[in-house]
Amino acid sequence: MEKRDYYEVLGVSRGANADEVKKAFRQLAFKYHPDRNPDDPSAEAKFKEASEAYDVLSDSQKRELYDQFGHAGLNGEGFRPADDLFEQFQGMFADFFGGGFGGAPRGRGGAQKGPRPTRGRDVRTGVRITLRDAVTGCKRDLDVAMPKMCAECSGSGAAKGASPVTCNSCRGRGQVTHGAGGFIISTTCPECSGRGSVIKQACAECKGHGEVREDKKVKVAIPAGIDHGQMIRLGGLGEAGTHGGPAGNLLVAVEVEEDPRFERDGYDLATEVSLTFPQAALGAKVDITTIDERKITVEIPPGTQPGAVFSFENEGVPFVDSHGRGRLAVIAKVEVPKKLSGKQRKAMEELARALSER
Ligand SMILES: [Zn+2]
Ligand SMILES: [Zn+2]
Repeated sequence: MEKRDYYEVLGVSRGANADEVKKAFRQLAFKYHPDRNPDDPSAEAKFKEASEAYDVLSDSQKRELYDQFGHAGLNGEGFRPADDLFEQFQGMFADFFGGGFGGAPRGRGGAQKGPRPTRGRDVRTGVRITLRDAVTGCKRDLDVAMPKMCAECSGSGAAKGASPVTCNSCRGRGQVTHGAGGFIISTTCPECSGRGSVIKQACAECKGHGEVREDKKVKVAIPAGIDHGQMIRLGGLGEAGTHGGPAGNLLVAVEVEEDPRFERDGYDLATEVSLTFPQAALGAKVDITTIDERKITVEIPPGTQPGAVFSFENEGVPFVDSHGRGRLAVIAKVEVPKKLSGKQRKAMEELARALSER
């Protein structure tokens, strides 16, 4: 049977607000509730249909998915019928009808609620890259020690057959009080770290922590232009959620190594070019290699002084959030030879004489 449109089921317009949705469902639920329609399977079917429609349309996230993609949008995200629909909706009826709708609780355990969905924690890790990788962008495979609930003890931390027992120090309150200078102060119980219970016999698998770490391979793409100390956030790649809750995020702190040739300042880079005295004095064309291994030619004018700066726009670090790059400053350095051959010495002496003749 084809699923009916949820708005049609509740008899509301697509623009209906939360109150209108609630009111429409309340009327239908009241009309078709199986306790008011014993032995009427069609009423039960209608009740289920209305409950399902309400579950989706009263939840803004599910409703958005449904509005965009229809029933297909809710696969895995949307409505999951419980074993006992009435049990599932018991809490809702308590809200609507002041509790006790239809008398005794139905099914196993009555209105008992399951554990609440909990979002997994964010997990932090780090990656160390070279300045060149930061400039070009790169991909890395990370081994992340991902916390995971210990399957052996189901997270309790207690050995098989041993349950956590009430902490003696705080009698289960998780807090201990001290008298100090006429005041009573309350602090977290050091014995049980505030849990109120202690484990006498720890689970061998997790040593009583209730969780284990499992190595997980995670691929991370590091964008060109990233800087030292920045954080990459990988949504949903952190610790898994429990009871259907979403996963946490993986936060990757980026460490950029110093480079022997290039100094970084924001999006600008600086490097040195070594010139011989004749190159500086007479002028020259000198090739340098950029950080991403391209050649650029620096035009050295005659009479260049040590420390002169030649600036290249768009040869620095790419902007991480937009197009373009910073600049590259090439600083002239004049090398004084430490050793001279006989021929060089002669030429140098001749130069010295020529310079003193002026
Ligand atoms: Zn364990
Ligand atoms: Zn305690």
